[in-house]
Amino acid sequence: MYTAIGYAAQTSTAPLAPMTFERRAPRADDVAIEILYCGVCHSDIHQARNEWGFATYPLMPGHEIVGKVTAIGANVSKFKVGDLVGVGCLVDSCRTCEACTADLEQYCVEGPTQTYAGHDRIDGSLTMGGYSSAIVVSDRFVVSIPAKLDLASAAPILCAGITTYSPLKHFGVKAGDKVGVLGMGGLGHMGIKFAKAMGAEVTLFTRSQAKAEEARRQGADHVIVSTDEQQMQAAAGQFDYLLDTIPVQHDLNPYLNTLKFDGVHILVGLIEPINPPVHAVNLVMKRRVLAGSMIGGLAETQEVLDFCAEHDITCDIEMLDIRNINDAFERVIKGDVKYRFVIDMATLKA
Ligand code: NDP
Ligand code: ZN
Repeated sequence: MYTAIGYAAQTSTAPLAPMTFERRAPRADDVAIEILYCGVCHSDIHQARNEWGFATYPLMPGHEIVGKVTAIGANVSKFKVGDLVGVGCLVDSCRTCEACTADLEQYCVEGPTQTYAGHDRIDGSLTMGGYSSAIVVSDRFVVSIPAKLDLASAAPILCAGITTYSPLKHFGVKAGDKVGVLGMGGLGHMGIKFAKAMGAEVTLFTRSQAKAEEARRQGADHVIVSTDEQQMQAAAGQFDYLLDTIPVQHDLNPYLNTLKFDGVHILVGLIEPINPPVHAVNLVMKRRVLAGSMIGGLAETQEVLDFCAEHDITCDIEMLDIRNINDAFERVIKGDVKYRFVIDMATLKA
């Protein structure tokens, strides 16, 4: 065991505050990592405040982790001390079910072990995330950061990147398809870049006209202001896919109406329950599909990092001093960040 420090919430109503805790000594298949950067995902806020109802405390968020290997277990051959590596939302899974053996650990039939607020499969201890100085993770759940990528802006690829890349690939987005991205935050702005890199014609649906120019800079071909009923009506029947990153309950019906027949509306937010209700007519009459998607498996997480290196895709980030994390949460909720906070872990030592 060795001592680490980090920022954690002690209850669902407490702000994040510094906490000293123990990380395990590396097991035979473990990689110990000094964390250099960690992205701030909207999920961190949902979880710290128990908005999904399954948080456990103390809760130390952070699942967009980039760092340097400081030690390896006896059986680790994939990594060596000094390597630059990443850890995303998962740190373990059963490894034997049909999902795990198909490289879809995120859908592990037993339930994967989350990077934070989960329970270690061997000793049962509570997992603590990346808002911390160090982490120890089994090598199967560690990925390599391509040398070409800037380390800080690579961090959000571990969640915001893979969560948007995976469904676009899975549902088969290809050149010429019309893809709508709903919401331009951390996930949305990556979704625009990936859909564009896959050759799609991309439209951002946003609440704010002010984001129009920014969206074009991200690669969007068109912008629809979702609060403008006329613009929504004019888009009826146009899209092959919608990638919905809106983090709160919202009416899906006006968006479904913008899909062609056979169009697919992909949810990534846990907007329990969907409210107002979806009208069956919006699905049935056009054979439309309402789908969901969760992050991605480890192989695909490595794939998206390599894809970003190959296509010069980076996340737009604002560097954060960890002492300002509670303000940063408020700013994320207000949409006041372009488009991802990344904690510079050097500020933890200060
Ligand atoms: P952000 O807060 O960075 O972005 C969300 C965007 O949604 C905002 O920028 C805004 O875009 C839009 N939005 C925000 N509030 C509202 C509102 N009240 N009504 C309509 N639109 C709104 O969040 P993230 O990108 O980090 O995360 C998005 C969601 O995805 C979260 O719920 C998160 O938990 C979830 N998530 C899911 C994962 C999965 O595996 N399925 C993994 C990671 C995250 P605009 O201003 O352009 O309208
Ligand atoms: Zn996330």
